[in-house]
Amino acid sequence: MKVHPILEEKLRIFLNECKKQGIEVGITSTFRSLKEQQALYLQGRVSLEEVNKVRKSAGLRPITQVENRIVTYLKESPHNYGLAFDFVPLRDGKPVWNDNALWERCAKIIRKLNLDWGGDWKDFVDKPHVQVKNWQSYKTVAKIYFEEMEKSQKL
Ligand SMILES: [Zn+2]
Repeated sequence: MKVHPILEEKLRIFLNECKKQGIEVGITSTFRSLKEQQALYLQGRVSLEEVNKVRKSAGLRPITQVENRIVTYLKESPHNYGLAFDFVPLRDGKPVWNDNALWERCAKIIRKLNLDWGGDWKDFVDKPHVQVKNWQSYKTVAKIYFEEMEKSQKL
């Protein structure tokens, strides 16, 4: 799980609290490179061939024609700075997308941690999505953090 330290602790508490309440959750996405974001943004907007060219350079598997549909409206997202994660409640290890009461129990924990939940948004509801409040103000420090981390991994 790759997230910025300011989110890491809260993510840990979220997972612990879910466990305590007997809610099983899976984390489906954390850090996403800008290249990956670009590839996702192109989906449903350009030809399959072009999408897969960019996906390949981002280290992603190619997609099929049916998968070439719009999956994001953002050219930049808090995921690109490790300031967001996506999750889904599970039952017997399987994702449960349509149990509103279950999502709401998770949301209560998220709000207590002073994080923004995508399920509270009015224009584009994104229930799996959780992000740091005012994430834009942490962009610069987060960018430096991940660049430094990448450098030290190459050493
Ligand atoms: Zn997300």
